[in-house]
Amino acid sequence: MTTYGFLGLGIMGNAMAANLVKAGFDVTVWNRTPAKCAPLLALGARQGLSPCDVVAACDITFAMVSDPTAAREICFGPDGVLAGIGDSRGYVDMSTVDDGTARSIMQAVSARNGRFLEAPVSGTKKPAEDGTLIILTAGDQSLYEQAAAAFEKMGKMHLYLGEVGQAARMKLVVNMIMGGMMAAFCEGMALGTKGGLDGSQILEVIAAGAIASPMFKGKGAMLLQGEFPTSFPLKHMQKDLRLAVSLGEALAQPLHCAAAVNEIFKQACAAGHADADFSAVFEAIR
Ligand code: NAP
Repeated sequence: MTTYGFLGLGIMGNAMAANLVKAGFDVTVWNRTPAKCAPLLALGARQGLSPCDVVAACDITFAMVSDPTAAREICFGPDGVLAGIGDSRGYVDMSTVDDGTARSIMQAVSARNGRFLEAPVSGTKKPAEDGTLIILTAGDQSLYEQAAAAFEKMGKMHLYLGEVGQAARMKLVVNMIMGGMMAAFCEGMALGTKGGLDGSQILEVIAAGAIASPMFKGKGAMLLQGEFPTSFPLKHMQKDLRLAVSLGEALAQPLHCAAAVNEIFKQACAAGHADADFSAVFEAIR
């Protein structure tokens, strides 16, 4: 029976790992703050002592951590993934990072005779809980096929995009668009309500027309209530915008909107909304 590891039990990792355990898979978990392992252990997971410990004990190890710094730290750091990989074991990093970070991890894992797949996801806390994420993968195709049974428990769709870096790029493109949509939506809501329009009626009109979107529907209710329980931390959206703008520089693609939206999200982080949901950018806009 295939054994699975899971590193990083934040909002997303906790829900994704739980779906693997609930499916009856043999799962060993690790988190930098060990207390977050408790709900998974209660479901039947084992606890690993370090990323190295988990990777060495499992056929395939998934990771879901904050950003490029965290992804590098759990891989290259002391007792990291590299110290335990080998014998063709698989490492699947599902964190949202830039293509350069994904490639450097792939090279290091391959140099130690491990197999690497990048697999960032589209979808937030609820899809992670429901097992309906969209999983974007690139890298070792044999690992993609071997990990399919686990992907089926975590997502409603998984696809293979070729060379490492392409899944990171796909993910950044999607989130760059999403960040822009959210900023434009919040500006519209702020302008409309300041102009005396009823917020619920703005949402009703948007929902009936060509710009209707599940995101506007779901987040619109939060904007009206002024409460922003975190599904997707605002600081992570700012990280994704920063990485997208940086990719634009590398590829000489002008990104006027994304650059401006990145500044709005930076301002929202500085104003104390970093850990709130990314829809809290409304507070910095209005
Ligand atoms: P989160 O709740 O902030 O969790 C972050 C995780 O990373 C925690 O387990 C944290 O450990 C760990 N971590 C951070 N820095 C670390 C380090 N230096 N060394 C080891 N572990 C470290 O974030 P999340 O929402 O689950 O997001 C995780 C990733 O998925 C991010 O790349 C995000 O952009 C992406 N993503 C998120 C969503 C979403 O809607 N939330 C959707 C799609 C993709 P501690 O518990 O010790 O802090």
